[in-house]
Amino acid sequence: MAKTNLGKEFVFALAGNPNSGKTTLFNELTGSHYQVGNWAGVTVERKEGICKYVFHDHITHFDTHEHESEHKHDESHNHIRIVDLPGIYSLSPNSAEEVITRDYIIKEKPDLILNIVDATNLERNLYLTTQLAEMETPMVVALNMMDALEENGFSIDVEKLEEKIGIKTMPISASKGRGVQDLVTASLAVAANHEIGKYPVTYKPHTEKAVNEIKRAENLPRLCAVKLLENDSRLISNIQNSKTHEIIENENKIIRDMETYIAEERYRFIKSVVKASVSKTGPNRQAERTKKIDSVVNHPIFAIPIFIGIMFLIFQITFGAFGTMLSDGVDMLFNVYFADFVSSCLDKWSVAPFLSGLIVAGIISGVGGVVTFFPQIMLLFLFLSFLEDSGYMARTAFIMDKLFIKLGLSGKSFVPMIMGFGCSVPAIMSVRTLENERDRKLTLLLVPFMSCGAKMPVYAIFTAALFPEHAGAVTFSLYFLGILLGIISGLIFSKTFIKG
Ligand code: GDP
Ligand code: MG
Repeated sequence: MAKTNLGKEFVFALAGNPNSGKTTLFNELTGSHYQVGNWAGVTVERKEGICKYVFHDHITHFDTHEHESEHKHDESHNHIRIVDLPGIYSLSPNSAEEVITRDYIIKEKPDLILNIVDATNLERNLYLTTQLAEMETPMVVALNMMDALEENGFSIDVEKLEEKIGIKTMPISASKGRGVQDLVTASLAVAANHEIGKYPVTYKPHTEKAVNEIKRAENLPRLCAVKLLENDSRLISNIQNSKTHEIIENENKIIRDMETYIAEERYRFIKSVVKASVSKTGPNRQAERTKKIDSVVNHPIFAIPIFIGIMFLIFQITFGAFGTMLSDGVDMLFNVYFADFVSSCLDKWSVAPFLSGLIVAGIISGVGGVVTFFPQIMLLFLFLSFLEDSGYMARTAFIMDKLFIKLGLSGKSFVPMIMGFGCSVPAIMSVRTLENERDRKLTLLLVPFMSCGAKMPVYAIFTAALFPEHAGAVTFSLYFLGILLGIISGLIFSKTFIKG
């Protein structure tokens, strides 16, 4: 994207907790169509886009591509690049995502941190806010899910909140596109004026003194100075000034558990913010609904039968008559009609037999072998995203967790495993839906132990040939053995090279 005659380009970094609506806001801002949901890995990679909302002569208006040319030569036309940072709960370097975010803000110096906060989970979300605010970068809080908050029977006094945290706060509803325009306008103003708010949380006077001394000695943002006091191992190794070690040591003598102290101060502040700005206005319609649903799907007796029923239904539709029909249809279309058509064309043009053999028997039937899995993969993913978005997956995980934790897996691994009995290919693909890499790898290794439909004919031939009298029992034991080996392998893998 050309930057030359478009005025200054601003870079806004989108930061927030997982599930706070970052992807939704990113898509709304950039107009790009990414996957919204919890597909693992989607937000771990760095995503960028150009904001389609523009600021022009102090009036913001919706820019469409048709209008772009009119603005091209206008110096006041600001370009905003949005960078989507990974979803994180804090800036402590406990994970790669947290390190990516912290390093990005320190090294690449975005013009603005757009901190997206889930208003329905204010207390948990504001923890990251208190840390981001110490990065000494202009910042705006996008208070998201305002619609859900209302639904929950709460309201937030945004002005009070803004005053308390000292950071410009804009209420929005990303999924409904509400408030996004005003958010962009306010953000541009903060970025253009390079407004850095006050630090919301202050510590004991001697701690403050130590923080400021470290800041000066190391030339680091406040957050890093605080992290140094907490003995953050990644930062300690980069200390430039020998005086810093001394300050850290002294302060840690006064406050013995620095990390706990700092976290407690943050939470104490957050509690006071929540107390001052959140009020209950009505019944929690959402919770009442959730309770009703939970009373059925998490019922002590019916939960498991309901779960088995749902799995059975998905299994039946995906691998039963319907899925098979679609697969056969695609197979027919591609491997019979299309192959015949190409083959007759090639004959007509009297193409050399080796070449037509390569095309028809090689390429077309090779691709065809893969293409026939498509309908089942699509069906399975459709159901999975439905389970995920409806919240049933989280509840399932809750039911199955106890069982699967013994295997070193999360409850969600159950679904790919079950689907493994239908067909390994879609089942292995569905492993993508699991949240962490370790679960994905481990589940992926275990799925093939679940005997899929294609193994059945092989079992049938061998059992019929070798154990004609006990074919049924042998086939059953083969299935059972597969599961058993799966469990044993799971235990071995989770204790050896895929540790938690
Ligand atoms: P991310 O993990 O931060 O990228 O969050 P997503 O953008 O994937 O959003 C998580 C969930 O919240 C999705 O199901 C969204 O549809 C939903 N969501 C996002 N913004 C809003 C909002 O303003 N209101 C409501 N009710 N739901 C929202
Ligand atoms: Mg996301």
